[in-house]
Amino acid sequence: MDRDLSDEDSVVDLSFEAESPLTPPAELLERLPSYDCLFQGGGQQIFFPPLEALGRPQEPRCWSSFLEHSRVPVVTEQVAREALLSFVNSKCCYGSSAAGDLIIQELKQQTLCRYRLETFSESRIKRSVDGPQRGTSPRLWDIKVQVPPMFQEDTRKFQVPHSSLVKECHKCHGRGRYKCSGCHGAGMVRCPSCRGAKRRTKQPRRCQMCSGSGRHRCSTCSGRGTKTCATCKGEKKLLHFIQLVIMWKNSLFEFVSEHQLNCPGELLAKAKGENLFKDENTTVYPLIDFPLREISLASQRGIAQHSATLASRARVLQQRQTIELIPLTEVHYWYQGKTNVYYIYGTDHRVYVVDYPEQYCCGCTII
Ligand SMILES: [Zn+2]
Ligand SMILES: [Zn+2]
Ligand SMILES: [Zn+2]
Repeated sequence: MDRDLSDEDSVVDLSFEAESPLTPPAELLERLPSYDCLFQGGGQQIFFPPLEALGRPQEPRCWSSFLEHSRVPVVTEQVAREALLSFVNSKCCYGSSAAGDLIIQELKQQTLCRYRLETFSESRIKRSVDGPQRGTSPRLWDIKVQVPPMFQEDTRKFQVPHSSLVKECHKCHGRGRYKCSGCHGAGMVRCPSCRGAKRRTKQPRRCQMCSGSGRHRCSTCSGRGTKTCATCKGEKKLLHFIQLVIMWKNSLFEFVSEHQLNCPGELLAKAKGENLFKDENTTVYPLIDFPLREISLASQRGIAQHSATLASRARVLQQRQTIELIPLTEVHYWYQGKTNVYYIYGTDHRVYVVDYPEQYCCGCTII
């Protein structure tokens, strides 16, 4: 596979270039975006309340200490080979000798930043159960319920107190039974065998099924002519009440800092990372001074997005934002005259390999 991987300079701008030990380079810490420029952005409305308005002291975070205390281990040649071997051994179609024999030529390690925002919200709807509601319905948000643990999605249904009333069944008009639709109340239908002719076609003997009567007991109502009302189950009355449906939902916004390596984004979104920062509160605020501008902007975007989509239909109960460091290593190797690459991502050293040189097809699906 021909791929131009020589363009190393462009990655410095957007991700932490790996050095040993793997801490972000010092110049990133100095490249703080100015406070003002983040709020200009072409007159776009930002959907979070001003920090001062909510009485939250605006404390500048000391990002350098966060970054200095976070270390992502360096992937050595031995680690790279062991990761590939264990990956290959988990696949029935991959042979392990290539993984053992290939010559590792170069390791390009980067540390990406993953920003996540979770917003846990509650929304309520009411619905009338079993018929039209009567009386004044209570205000939905006045009903107190037990909230599940934060960030755990759930849906629960409650009967609104004092909303129930007993009413005559509207389907059977309080009779508990209604006329059978199969025989229109007669209890008998035309004999299906002789079709009411009392004898079979061209046969002198009378029809055996109806004993020559031409009529047969209705199978729908067993000859009763009526059926038990399915709505009230024969009880003649119905209990009407208002049901409150509460949905607790966790909305997720996720962003991984850009990189120039050819590893699929969905793998990096799921990759195991090293926690760098965690902030949890009823409302969280954009990380405007985070030294990586794209993460700072992502936090503003995420908070604005959740605020805009949830404001009209849900109540926000809790928010959590995190920043994690995701190591990503591009391993260049040589095997039987060809060069290629594979990737090691996450702190648990997951492997992503394209065109592994020793594959057999045994009919299974290669993931
Ligand atoms: Zn009924
Ligand atoms: Zn019937
Ligand atoms: Zn008959």
